[in-house]
Parts: sequence; structure tokens; C-alpha cells
Amino acid sequence: MRRWLFADQLGPHFLDEPDQPVLLIESKAVFRRRAFHRQKAHLVLSALRHRAAELGDQALHLRTETYREALAQVREPLDACHPTSRAARGLLRSAGVTVHEPRGFVTSPGQFTAWAQGRRSLRLEDFYRHVRVLHDVLMDGGAPAGGRWNLDADNREPPPADGRLDVPPPPMPVEDDIDAQVRADLDRWQDEGVVFTGRDGPRLFPATHAEAAARLRHFVTHRLAAFGPYEDAMLAGDPWLAHSMLSAPLNLGLLDPIDAVHRAEAAYRAGHVPLAGAEGFIRQLIGWRDYIWHLYWHLGARYPHTNRLAARRPLPRWFADLDADAVQAHCLSDVLAGVRDRGWVHHIPRLMVLGNYALQRGWRPAALADWFHRNFVDGYEWVMTANVVGMSQYADAGAITTKPYAAGGAYLNRMSDYCGSCPYDPRRRLGDDACPYTAGYWAFLHRNRQRLHGNVRLAQPLRQLDRLADLDAVVEQERHRGSRAP
Ligand SMILES: Cc1cc2nc3c(=O)[nH]c(=O)nc-3n(C[C@H](O)[C@H](O)[C@H](O)COP(=O)(O)OP(=O)(O)OC[C@H]3O[C@@H](n4cnc5c(N)ncnc54)[C@H](O)[C@@H]3O)c2cc1C
Ligand code: SF4
Repeated sequence: MRRWLFADQLGPHFLDEPDQPVLLIESKAVFRRRAFHRQKAHLVLSALRHRAAELGDQALHLRTETYREALAQVREPLDACHPTSRAARGLLRSAGVTVHEPRGFVTSPGQFTAWAQGRRSLRLEDFYRHVRVLHDVLMDGGAPAGGRWNLDADNREPPPADGRLDVPPPPMPVEDDIDAQVRADLDRWQDEGVVFTGRDGPRLFPATHAEAAARLRHFVTHRLAAFGPYEDAMLAGDPWLAHSMLSAPLNLGLLDPIDAVHRAEAAYRAGHVPLAGAEGFIRQLIGWRDYIWHLYWHLGARYPHTNRLAARRPLPRWFADLDADAVQAHCLSDVLAGVRDRGWVHHIPRLMVLGNYALQRGWRPAALADWFHRNFVDGYEWVMTANVVGMSQYADAGAITTKPYAAGGAYLNRMSDYCGSCPYDPRRRLGDDACPYTAGYWAFLHRNRQRLHGNVRLAQPLRQLDRLADLDAVVEQERHRGSRAP
């Protein structure tokens, strides 16, 4: 049986035997249909071709317009690990490919279903604790290591006052002949009319298992200790801070997440990193990443179109085109430039700068999910649904989170160094220098007052809204600002 490996199943753990015959398909139609970030297209093709080169004669590597054209050339029976999208699952079924359990996640679908059955709410924290016990991760007998399950409260430090974090940056991959070939092909495709977003640049993310393993080792040795406390901080001059930059290789299937979990735990047990760093990182992997993955299937095919806040505005051109230079607001301009130049920013810029702005302005959640999917090097359909539609846009009215991630300039000012050099003032909601996030926050609450009524976590801000003497003027000011670049 030949194993069909999709382009996000490229690590050794997707094979049963090291010498198993493999099929790899490179479909150009994928890039014709939608405009992906140039660096994302580069990374995916580079990873696929590096895998083909590693496997040599063991791999049948087909470059065709569509998957079906490639499949028509294969005479042997095929099997595959469960893919990561409904479309790919449909393709495998219609092509008669034998499908095995998914790999590349810590928990199996059966384990998630057994946990979810009969629960009224599917809270991340409950799932996370369940997986810790199930896989015996950071456990001392039946109790959590250090006596606490979750050290999040210790992990919300604002950025260091001197504007820098004292950790070495992640080592960057060295491009090779395969990358040069990919770049030449993408240039040619662009000349033929294929459209990409963002800017080209040196490849910043691992394209092989060896590169990914090296980044993981470096992260655990040099950066993990600082990961916890500064997880939520943002610095204009340091986009990485102590984040792992492992989402792209994890989502390409180059690394098995349980290996990353075991390495982080071993570093804690050996006394090399504090519990807050190891626990924070492990929670991202066995909590958030697996939870988001299972929710993609659990929430169903219609969930991505959920829109309970009736947000119907289209994404404005400047945002769709990643035109950071059109934006004056320092935080949004810098984060949008990060997407344009790298196809990556860390979690808080995604949630509290990009997502928060879209939420406040009432942009259509499904369009925003598509934007994230195409423009981020780690963006895949499965990871969009709960992160963008649910968590960041609250389009399900609270199935995943207890309140919308809407915040004004005070939060961004506390967690970043952006506001000092911004033409807007985070404290002001009215006037020429009113912070668009601060004013947008009140306009958002006002617009959704009825829909959010009864949410206990919003009771206080909604009461405050009623006491704002200048509310009408703020709402009118924001109606006028609309979706223009702030
Ligand atoms: C609006 C929005 C969009 C997002 N889009 C993506 C995306 O396209 N792809 C993606 O992998 N993550 C996405 N995330 C989750 C998270 O922001 C990224 O995984 C993280 O920023 C990647 O950087 P890192 O590898 O340095 O992560 P770290 O901060 O070092 O975290 C470690 C790992 O935990 C995992 N992780 C943490 N949080 C999540 C989460 N919420 N969902 C899934 N995995 C998580 C990732 O694999 C990540 O590599 C999104 C979050 C939001 C709010
Ligand atoms: S003042 Fe407002 S717009 Fe400017 S950087 Fe701060 S939060 Fe962003």
C-alpha cells in the first residue's frame, strides 16, 4: 500500500515503516483559486519538495494542476492518515483511499468524543486537565506538578520597560537549492497571473523535520524559561519575544507535538525552566492546539458561517491588501506590516490587534477567517474555525469563550510599547486624537447591547456604557470612521 502524504503530513510519524512507499502531490490549482501569502506558498512547497528529496525513490512526487489528475496516474492502492479538512476527507472517500486515524495531535478523536459526551459546555480548561491526566503530563501522581493546574495568572506580565527581552532570537533556517527552485517557480507563476499577497523574503520557518527539531531544541534550551511571563506582551522592535515559532512546522506535520511536550516537561523536571514557562507552553499544545483541532470537526460544517453578532461589513481594501503604510494607528500598522513581511505575528497581535479591530468594526467573520487562513504561514482551515470565528469574533455568541475579546487602548497600552509613538491617545475616546480601539470598544458595546445583554462578564462595562455622557458623539464619530484605515 502506498501512503499518500498531504503537504501537512510531512514528518516521520506519518509513516508506519521508514521505507514505506509514498505519494506526494503538488497541485498548482490550490494556488490559483485563492491568493495566499507568498511566504506561505514558499514554505509549503519547500517543505513538500524537501520531503520528496529526503525520500528519494521511495516517493512518487507528482506535480499536476489538480489532485485528481495526479491520482489518475497512480495504479497502486493508496492509504492515508486522516486529513485536516472536510474537502480533503471528501476527496479521499471519493477516490477510495483507505483512511487511518489522524496523526500529528496528542489526543485521538475517540478520546475527545469520550470527554465531550454529556457535557453541557466544552471548556478548554476542563479538556486541558483531562489530557494532562490521560497522558500523564506534568503530573505528580494524581496531582498537578507544583500543586496548580494553570499558572496563567503568573503569565500576564507587561513587556520589560527597556523595550527588550533578554533571550536569543530563534536560529533561522539556511535556504538551499530547493528554496531557490521554489522561488524561481513562484516568480514564474506570478508572471503567468497567479496572485500572492504579502512580500517575499528569506524563509523564516523550518521546512524539514531536522530544521524543526533544531528550532524546538533551541527554544527549550534558550527561550522557554521566558515564554510564560511574557506570553501576552508585545514589543514594536521584537516580534518574536519568547514565542516558539513552532506553529508552522507543527501544522506542516514536521514535528510531533507530544515530543515538544515531553521536551518541555523534561526541562522543567531537570530544573532548567520554571514551571510557569513549561506549563504555559504545554497548555498551548495539549490544551489549545488539540482543543481547536477537535472543535473543527465537532462544531460541524456550518459553524464557520455562524454570525450571531450580525457582523456583515466586508474587509476593507487596505486590510485585505496588507497595506500597513495606509494605517496611522501604531499598533495596527506594525502588526499588519508583520503579516505583510513575515506571514506571522504572535497570538496577542492576532487576537487583540487584528481580531479585536475586526470585531469592533463588524467585519464578516467568515471573510476574516479566510484572510487569516491565506495570510499566515501556519493558517489552515481546521485552526481558523474556533480561533477566528469563535474566539476572536464571538460569532457563536459564547459557545467557546465566556465573553468577546474586545478591548480598548488601555489594554494595548499596558501590554505593549506601541502607544507612546502613536498619533492617537489610548485614554481618549472622542476627538481627533481619540484612540480607534478605545472609541471602537464603546461603539461595539453600544451596537451589540441587546445581543450581549445577560452576559455576566459584561454586566459592568454595559452599566458603564449607560453612564457615558458623550456616548452619542462617540458612536457618531466611529460611524463616520467606519472601516477606513485608522
Ligand atoms: C485570530 C487568531 C488566529 C490564529 N490563527 C492560527 C493559525 O492560523 N495557525 C495556528 O497554528 N495558530 C493560530 N492561532 C493560535 C496562535 O496564535 C498561534 O498558534 C501562535 O501565535 C503561533 O506562534 P508560536 O508557534 O510562536 O506559538 P507559541 O506562543 O510558542 O505557542 C506554542 C504552540 O501552541 C500552539 N497553539 C497555541 N495557541 C493555539 C491556538 N489557539 N490554536 C492552535 N494552536 C495553538 C501552536 O502550535 C504554537 O506553536 C490563532 C489565534 C488567533 C487568536
Ligand atoms: S493609542 Fe490606540 S491606536 Fe495608538 S497604539 Fe495605542 S492602542 Fe493602538
